Amino acid sequence: MLENLDVTSVTIKLPFRLNHVNCFIAEGADGWTIIDTGLHDLEAYNSWKPFLDSRKISDIIVTHHHPDHYGFAGGLQEMTGAKVFMSKIEHETASAIIKKERDETLKENYLNCGIPKKVVEDMTNTETSFNQMVSPHPQVSGHLKAGDKFQFGRYEYEIFDAPGHADGLITFFNKENSVLFSTDHILPKITPNISYHFYGESNPLEQYITSLREYKKLEAELVIPSHGKPFKNANKRIDEILKHHDERLVQIIDIVKVPSTVFDVCLKLFGENLTSHEMRFAIGETISHLEYLINRGECSKDIFKGIFQYQV
Ligand SMILES: [Zn+2]
Repeated sequence: MLENLDVTSVTIKLPFRLNHVNCFIAEGADGWTIIDTGLHDLEAYNSWKPFLDSRKISDIIVTHHHPDHYGFAGGLQEMTGAKVFMSKIEHETASAIIKKERDETLKENYLNCGIPKKVVEDMTNTETSFNQMVSPHPQVSGHLKAGDKFQFGRYEYEIFDAPGHADGLITFFNKENSVLFSTDHILPKITPNISYHFYGESNPLEQYITSLREYKKLEAELVIPSHGKPFKNANKRIDEILKHHDERLVQIIDIVKVPSTVFDVCLKLFGENLTSHEMRFAIGETISHLEYLINRGECSKDIFKGIFQYQV
């Protein structure tokens, strides 16, 4: 499928349960363009090395600031001298994460969620340990925005906003062939993690749901995601994802019939067998749903002894 687009998929192993990320390389206007990079680790280095020897890499496009996509951008830039582009929001978010003071605020926020101290320690340590997988940070040459177009392989793609998984996530669509590089916006098999982050968007799930409904208008036939295999019929998958969130919201309304902390709700949804890395995603996902319900007036929140309690 990708051969017809003159695009090569470079799948890089990740040391997580989500064990790979699909990055892409194709000829652009002034050389070769890379989309997403992997973590800054040996796997990514070894995966990219064969592509760099005989090609001039002119551009690196990063879809969002998460380490599996952004992590090796700085490293690749050092190796190739390529320009790095991302959306303004994601550039700002990546820059903010470098700042140390975030750790303390994050700890406090997690404690407000009713998460036990020991678990909070592990969660913030995991977050900090990511720093080495995203260093050095790239020098960003310019910002990409919705409506921008670029050549990637045989065809030109238009950039679309895709808020939800990350506030400034972007996707790429070629209309004439109905091909969507959906990045982490629409994934097969797993649903993209929609997390509340204590910064940025206050209601990311609302943004995500609204955006998915907009994407249905594209009626994309071929979807090439950043995790998992390419698949047909974006709208069918969008409907499945929307249904999943509806069901989860119903489940949460049932849980918060008794006053519950974020941690209480999280354990009931995802169980206790989570690594601290997975717990961060689970907590973020739990809050995004709770905040969505609050915004719709279907749930209320108050604070007792520094801990938020949610209740229908
Ligand atoms: Zn991803």
